[in-house]
Amino acid sequence: MKEMPINEATGEISGDGEDSDRFPYDGDSSGGEEDGQKKKSKRKWKMPTFKQFRKEADLRNPEFRIGMQFANKEELKEAIREYAIVQGRNVKLVKNDNRRIQAKCAGHTRCPFILFASKIDRDEQTFAIKTLSLEHECTRVDKLKYTNSRWLSIRFADKIRKNPEWDVGAFQSEVLEKYHMNVSRHQIYRAKSLSKVIIEGSYVEQYARLWDYAEELKKANKGSTVIIKNKMNGDVPVFQRIYVCLEACKRGFLAGCRPLVGIDGCHLKAPYTGQVLTAVGVDGNNGMYPVAYAVVEVESKSSWIWFLELLIADLKIENGKALVFISDKQKGKIPAIETLLPTAEHRMCVRHIYSNFRTEHAGLALKNILWAAARVTTIPWYEVEMEKMKQQDEGAWKWLIKRPAKNWSRSHFEPHSKCDLLLNNL
Ligand SMILES: [Zn+2]
Repeated sequence: MKEMPINEATGEISGDGEDSDRFPYDGDSSGGEEDGQKKKSKRKWKMPTFKQFRKEADLRNPEFRIGMQFANKEELKEAIREYAIVQGRNVKLVKNDNRRIQAKCAGHTRCPFILFASKIDRDEQTFAIKTLSLEHECTRVDKLKYTNSRWLSIRFADKIRKNPEWDVGAFQSEVLEKYHMNVSRHQIYRAKSLSKVIIEGSYVEQYARLWDYAEELKKANKGSTVIIKNKMNGDVPVFQRIYVCLEACKRGFLAGCRPLVGIDGCHLKAPYTGQVLTAVGVDGNNGMYPVAYAVVEVESKSSWIWFLELLIADLKIENGKALVFISDKQKGKIPAIETLLPTAEHRMCVRHIYSNFRTEHAGLALKNILWAAARVTTIPWYEVEMEKMKQQDEGAWKWLIKRPAKNWSRSHFEPHSKCDLLLNNL
C-alpha cells in the first residue's frame, strides 16, 4: 500500500515529522464569546473521529493511519515492533522520549518510510500519529532483532501451553511460515523456558484466587455447595481438593432428571497435575445434565468417597436403591459406591467392558454377540446370546460370564431408573 504523508485534518503534506509536532487541534479549545460569525463557523466545525488503536484486535497486524491514537508510548512502540515483524522491514526508533516517537526504516538509505507520533496533550499519556508514510523502497528481511525469544514466548504462548513438548524444528518452521522470519534454535529454547515461567506464574496466581472464586460462586448462586479441602504444609494451608455443585444444577437434577448418575474422572493438563471427577445426569430428553464436579489430587477410592459423600448429601439420596450409577470399574469407583450405597444399582460402561474383552478375545463375531447380549431386554434372550458365545468361543464365554449381567446387560437392569443407558459417555 502506498500512502502519501498527508495530514488528514489540514490537508497539508507534512515534510518532516517535527514540523507537524503540534496536533492540529491543540489550543483550539480557547473558545470565547467573540462575534457571532465565529460562533457559527465553530458550530459547523466537527472533530473528525480518529481510529483508536486497540491492542487486542490491532496488534497482530497494525495498520497505521494519520491521527491514530495509542493509549501510551509503550503501546505505540509495541505496535511499531509488530509492524516491523509483519512487514519484514528493519524499522528503527530514531527518536524516543517522553513526548515524541519517530520511526524510520534502516533497510535502505532512501527508504521513505516514516512514522512520527507525539503526545496529544502534555498531561495525558495518549500518543497520536502526526506524520506517516508507509512506502518502502527496501526489500524484506528475514531476521530482525524484534523477533527475540521474549517476543516468541508471548506470541506463541497459547501453543506452548497446549503443547509444552512442541518440537523445536516445528516451532521454527511455524515462525517462518507465519512471519517469514528466521529464528535460531537457541531462541526457541529460550522462548519455551520463558513461556513456562509465564504460564506457571499465571497458574500460581489462579490457584491462589480459588478461595475468592468459591465465595463468588456461593454468592452468585445461593445454595450452591463449593467446598475446598486444604492440606497443611506446616502452618500454610495448601490446596488439595475442590468440589462444586451449583444450586441450579442440584435443583434441576432433582426436578427433572432420571435417577441415574454417570461418574467419571480425567486428567488435568497443567503444570499442577490432578484429576477432575464429574457426576453427570440424564434429563427427560436423554440429554446430558451436569450435576457436580471436583478437582482432586488423584483418582482413588478415598477421593471418590469424598466426592460421593458430598454428592449424596447434595442430591438428598437416602435410599441407594432409588439410584443407578454408571461408570467404568477403574480407580476405586466401584469400591467407593459399594461402601457408601451398597444397595445402589451399578452399571459398567459396556464400551469399557468390550475394550478389555477385546484384548484377549478379538474378532467381529464375538464383538457382535457381546453387544447383542448387552442390548437384549429379557433374560431368555440374554441366555440365547450367551449360549451363542459359548458355541463360538468357550474362553470368551468364561471371561464374560464372570461379569455379573446386572452390571452390563439391559435384560437384568431394574426398571425404576427409567433409563436403559449402556455407556458412560456422558
Ligand atoms: Zn523500508
